Amino acid sequence: MGMLLLFIANGRKAKRALEQARERVAKAIGSKPKEIYFTACGSESDNLALKGIAYANQEKGKHIITSKIEHPAVLEACKTLEKQGFEVTYLNVDEKGFVLIEELERNIRKDTILISIMFANNEIGTLQPISEIGRIARAHHILFHTDSVQAIGNVKIDVEEMNIDLLSMSAHKFYGPKGVGALYVREGVKVERIQDGGHQEKNKRAGTENIPGIVGLGKAVELAYENLEQYNEKLTKLREHYISQVQEKIPEIKINGDREKRLPGNANISFSGIEGEELLLKLDERGICSSTGSACSSGMPNPSHVLLAIGLPKELAYGSLRITIGEENTKEDIDFLVEQLTEIIPRLRENSKPR
Ligand SMILES: *Cc1c(COP(=O)(O)O)cnc(C)c1O
Repeated sequence: MGMLLLFIANGRKAKRALEQARERVAKAIGSKPKEIYFTACGSESDNLALKGIAYANQEKGKHIITSKIEHPAVLEACKTLEKQGFEVTYLNVDEKGFVLIEELERNIRKDTILISIMFANNEIGTLQPISEIGRIARAHHILFHTDSVQAIGNVKIDVEEMNIDLLSMSAHKFYGPKGVGALYVREGVKVERIQDGGHQEKNKRAGTENIPGIVGLGKAVELAYENLEQYNEKLTKLREHYISQVQEKIPEIKINGDREKRLPGNANISFSGIEGEELLLKLDERGICSSTGSACSSGMPNPSHVLLAIGLPKELAYGSLRITIGEENTKEDIDFLVEQLTEIIPRLRENSKPR
């Protein structure tokens, strides 16, 4: 085969792999393959959704509704849009982390162009009433974006049934490779591109596609939905075991988020009278990797914006521990963690007492 022919053959193979991944993602969320656009990460998908919709619809209006507990990728994109003349309403959430439907309806205006509410919260695991929000958005002819980076692979999603117009995902959050994400955009919805250059991804996202990453994303999403029920059952059992053990063995705690409408593998507990950062260090010494607020803001001195939004006093917000239970974890892992906590927490509390 001549060099040129070889390139053409490889190009075809790559294109086929790309289209197969698109089909797999589409199947997982009930969309059409042509409604899937590949990006470099969840953050890029969120930015493209928010800014792309804002710029493409600014003639219609400049008002956006989101919530106070979104991921920084959404919140910071909103801050940028505010500097550019858009208006953003940040909805409150209740003590479990749910957006209040009446407050959402009350804040809809004639110039509202987009509602962006995350499917599942990364810190406290709360699942929002997405179908209801979708129904309201549709009834008012407002576009609805959901950051589903945490929900994909954990929850059944159907963009048709749920009236979702845009949806973000990121492969590394469902056992796929790092550095690749996707954005679903309903057919007919205009999104202005935010990165200039080539005409890849139907002109919505300039840049050569990360083919190996995209193939990995497609396969990972397919696998996640093949075993969804078993996986959820396993994680839910481990989570409930963890929570009930902590409840039994450690006094003065608060369990954050809803007990049922939550990500199966997420548990977030506040321990009074301790510093989360100190707890993390102690757990790390014993081989346990966990997080206080969101992983992204670890190391920052501010308490988590999510924990403050659900009304936790600062003291409790600082003493929070989030664990994420995964496929590879066992009951022994949980028992080991609880054992460590029952040792560490009383000591930290003792040390932090004023002398
Ligand atoms: C991780 C995460 C993101 C960002 O995804 P990256 O691929 O890391 O950029 C966005 N939203 C939520 C809810 C996340 O958990």
